[in-house]
Amino acid sequence: MKIQIDSLKEGHNGWLETVSPGELELNGSPFNGKVSVQLDVDKRSGKIPVSIKAKSVGRFTCDRCGEEFDREIEGKCNIMFVMREQPLPDEMPGDDVRSYFSGQSELDVTSDIRDALLLSIPFKLLCSEDCKGLCPGCGVNLNFEECKCLKEKDR
Ligand SMILES: [Zn+2]
Ligand SMILES: [Zn+2]
Repeated sequence: MKIQIDSLKEGHNGWLETVSPGELELNGSPFNGKVSVQLDVDKRSGKIPVSIKAKSVGRFTCDRCGEEFDREIEGKCNIMFVMREQPLPDEMPGDDVRSYFSGQSELDVTSDIRDALLLSIPFKLLCSEDCKGLCPGCGVNLNFEECKCLKEKDR
């Protein structure tokens, strides 16, 4: 996903875009639906701070019961584009501060948005806060079924 520098007015620009996961190189990730991206971009002389909020629904597997579920994830990032004649020698594509040149037409924020979303996925994911999980005895999903252990013991 790219920001067209020439289409920005001086000062603050804010807009919302809806993009496909493919455009953000999210194919094969938990995010398989549209991503809504809120951009706030300040066009100043020699500097363009970009603030991004991206939201999308991902498909995850519950750590407690193993069921698949959908959850909206929001990722945020800020990048400062600084006009320079040459990029700094140790500059990397995902850096928070990056160079652009006079005459450059667009700013690529694809990897920033992708990483912001992927890094916002919680380490532990539950289908719901009160997921009952699986019974260690009979293995039923206690969210949907009654445990059979007790009945078997009673026999
Ligand atoms: Zn669960
Ligand atoms: Zn059981």
